[in-house]
Amino acid sequence: MIYLGSHVSMKAPDYMLGSIKEALSYGSNACMIYTGAPQNSKRVPIEKFKLLQAKELMKANGFSMDRVIVHAPYIINLANSVKPETAQFGIEFLTEELKRVAQIGAKMLVLHPGAHMKAGIDIGSQWIINGLNAVLDQDESDIVIALETMAGKGSEVGSQFEELAYIKEHVHKSDRIKICLDTCHVHDAGYNIQDFDQLLETFDQVLGLQNLAVVHVNDSKNVKGAHKDRHENIGKGHIGFETLARIVHHPKLDDITKILETPYIENKPPYKEEIERLLAWSE
Ligand code: FE
Ligand code: FE
Ligand code: ZN
Repeated sequence: MIYLGSHVSMKAPDYMLGSIKEALSYGSNACMIYTGAPQNSKRVPIEKFKLLQAKELMKANGFSMDRVIVHAPYIINLANSVKPETAQFGIEFLTEELKRVAQIGAKMLVLHPGAHMKAGIDIGSQWIINGLNAVLDQDESDIVIALETMAGKGSEVGSQFEELAYIKEHVHKSDRIKICLDTCHVHDAGYNIQDFDQLLETFDQVLGLQNLAVVHVNDSKNVKGAHKDRHENIGKGHIGFETLARIVHHPKLDDITKILETPYIENKPPYKEEIERLLAWSE
């Protein structure tokens, strides 16, 4: 079964109910939400989310809570040893975010590992490990944190699979750390996504395919290895439609939730058309 959806908004007045309605309007059977604006950490109380109505709508449409992915805001940076208060804020935010994810009933939180701010990968990684331990040691849920593969823009940690493997291995509750593979990011990081079977094999050797939890399906505005992280609409970038469609239909990724984060076109979401085209593809 292919589980394919997109990032959807979650905003007043309908919050989660609105998110599910939006996902269904694209023909999705999965979606990704931020519990508030992705750029900031202001969050409204979960009582406003219209969760019961959302869950009724999901039930009526066979939309499983397992397919609702939550993404932590970009501003969280556990790796920031240069400004320890930023890392500490990240720990506090994530601790609360896991509670919100639990209340929603979702199972997976996608997190950008962080940026080391020129302190170096080793120090940055250690801060991420410490931060994740501070969060997870205190958290009794079984919600998975899916660390996202990054493009390697600026001082981002996690553009190489080995970096993510190192973090995972050193987190106490290692089984709660999985991976979100972003197609734009791995391409921008320098992996050859055109040979996706080889890429998956590398992923399997370094991280284990069983630890792949989510795939972000995006084209890229830039060439392989550009370290830019600028998403492009499906088929309009340097990855191309064929490669992305093969990924969506890849038998080894069956059952893994796939999420589009492509840009709006003339202020309109492109997701319905992109999902239709991707699903319609066949060899
Ligand atoms: Fe992301
Ligand atoms: Fe992504
Ligand atoms: Zn990105």
